[in-house]
Amino acid sequence: MIIAGPCAIESRDQTFRIAKLVKESGITYFRAGAYKPRTSPYTFQGLEREGLEVLADVSKEFGLKTVTEITDADLIDEVARHVDVLQIGTRNMANYALLKKIGDLTSRTHQPVLLKRGFSSTIEEWLLAAEYITSAGNPSVILCERGIRTFESATRFTLDLNAIPVVKKLSNLPIIVDPSHGTGHSDMVIPMSKAAVACGADGIILEVHDRPKEALCDGKQSLDADEFAEFMSQIRKMAGLEGKKVV
Ligand code: PEP
Ligand code: MN
Repeated sequence: MIIAGPCAIESRDQTFRIAKLVKESGITYFRAGAYKPRTSPYTFQGLEREGLEVLADVSKEFGLKTVTEITDADLIDEVARHVDVLQIGTRNMANYALLKKIGDLTSRTHQPVLLKRGFSSTIEEWLLAAEYITSAGNPSVILCERGIRTFESATRFTLDLNAIPVVKKLSNLPIIVDPSHGTGHSDMVIPMSKAAVACGADGIILEVHDRPKEALCDGKQSLDADEFAEFMSQIRKMAGLEGKKVV
């Protein structure tokens, strides 16, 4: 399973241009953030409600399934009405009140929840966070390894591929990998994605932008159109070696 799209919805135009690229690549899932949990309060915070409407329109126009992050328990109903899959970001993995509310709502709407690993969380803490959702009645949780904090500063985070075989041993939940946030560098996305597939990941979520230099958020780690085409070709080969099909 490949989930691709920009870090943030910046405008209707930008989102539609990138959605077209994603649709043409033959995959099913489109990601884009409407509510952005930024480190600095002085940077772009997302188009919020307007962004949700753009995502709902992308889904209608292209027939793509959409994934977006929920940052605030008060917005769960509204976000859930506009997208297919609800993402919980690394900064909210241990926000147990949010996990309980999302678990409760999605036990009724049957929407999958993509749960990113907290960047300072152990695998055990992450699996227990997932159980807040499954024990609320929604078994459809997708785990996402997105890099952890270490002393290493050459990359934005350290992508912990060890987590894949560990999770496979301890859990039946699918696990996908985010090499965009995990490395912070677009030129590392293809090699780390191939490595993730080789060690058993069930999917990749990555950032794609048709004009990465102009991106309002995470341009340095976003693949452009040509790089995304190369990514798809290499991932299809890698998945083939593992006896898997790319969706
Ligand atoms: C994102 O997917 O855009 C994002 C903010 O991810 P994370 O929570 O892993 O930083
Ligand atoms: Mn991002």
